[in-house]
Amino acid sequence: MQAFVMNGIGETGFAEKDRPEPGPNDAILKPTKALICTSDVHTVHGAIGERENLTLGHEAVGVVDEVGSEVEEFAEGDRVVVGAITPDWKSEAAQDGHPSQSGGALGGWKFANEKDGVFAEYAHVNDADANLAHIPEGVEDEEAVYVCDMLSTGFAAAENAEIPMGGTVAVFAQGPVGLMATRGAALQGAGQIIAVESVPERQELAREYGADEIVDFSEADPVEEILELTADEGEPAGVDAAIEALGREETLADCVAVTRPGGTISNVGYYGEGETVGIPREAWGVGMAEKDIVTDLCPGGRVRLRRLLRLIDAGRVDPTPMTTHEFDFENIDEAFELMASKEDGVIKPLVTF
Ligand SMILES: [Zn+2]
Repeated sequence: MQAFVMNGIGETGFAEKDRPEPGPNDAILKPTKALICTSDVHTVHGAIGERENLTLGHEAVGVVDEVGSEVEEFAEGDRVVVGAITPDWKSEAAQDGHPSQSGGALGGWKFANEKDGVFAEYAHVNDADANLAHIPEGVEDEEAVYVCDMLSTGFAAAENAEIPMGGTVAVFAQGPVGLMATRGAALQGAGQIIAVESVPERQELAREYGADEIVDFSEADPVEEILELTADEGEPAGVDAAIEALGREETLADCVAVTRPGGTISNVGYYGEGETVGIPREAWGVGMAEKDIVTDLCPGGRVRLRRLLRLIDAGRVDPTPMTTHEFDFENIDEAFELMASKEDGVIKPLVTF
């Protein structure tokens, strides 16, 4: 079979590989649609170190091609989505409520990390009964593929932010994860959503997904702007929750600065540089202002995937406006280049197999 692989840092290309075989609890997926992720680009640029002949990709839907002898819920021919994160559900971390960390920090992240990913004619899925979900009839593959990572991560950012009904939230960066955090905040009942973004197309989408105010950091200091927007008589300025969907030390610092005492900073950003990530001491209330910083890695699992699919099926979120470009699998290298350059207003490139 054909697979799109990483061959050392900065090197990608097609490779001929053997079709994977399922163990008793596993399934083999034949992908139909996939999305390129910024984390795929990070991987190629060395985020997880040197890799040889590693199949890339972790966001895909498709058809079950084969199941292991112990798989009960799925059969050949089923139309399914697989989570970007595929935990070992028997692990201690999963039993302790942190499946994404099964097998160590970020251990639930297996595709294109611990094992071959989904940018291939066939992909191996561990713990199939727990890591796959059937796609409802009313949901198209090109919609369902967004639940793998973008909806799961973006909505987790909003869920972890514990936004009170009618509360205020600032979402820093409106890439696909930030956009879904904005939509998630709206679905959670936020009363005021402030999106921080400078790219006009992303600002417009943010408004469609529920942002009430846009703060353009290229034109003004976002902290000053947000404090001004949230200033209220007798109340301290600042938001109940700030979401970091970028992964920059400065942005995290801004999140801490705009969050009111007692509020939550919800992080889904990936910090790819530096030995430490600094937190501004005074803005953090010298460590005692009860400004909690919560982190997460994309939640996986069948229950999670089914709930996210239900939101699409019910029309509560339409992820397809984020698909800015489409490619056939044969031209996936072009999709990668586009995602790396961030040119041409790209948000998500969709790949058809
Ligand atoms: Zn992803």
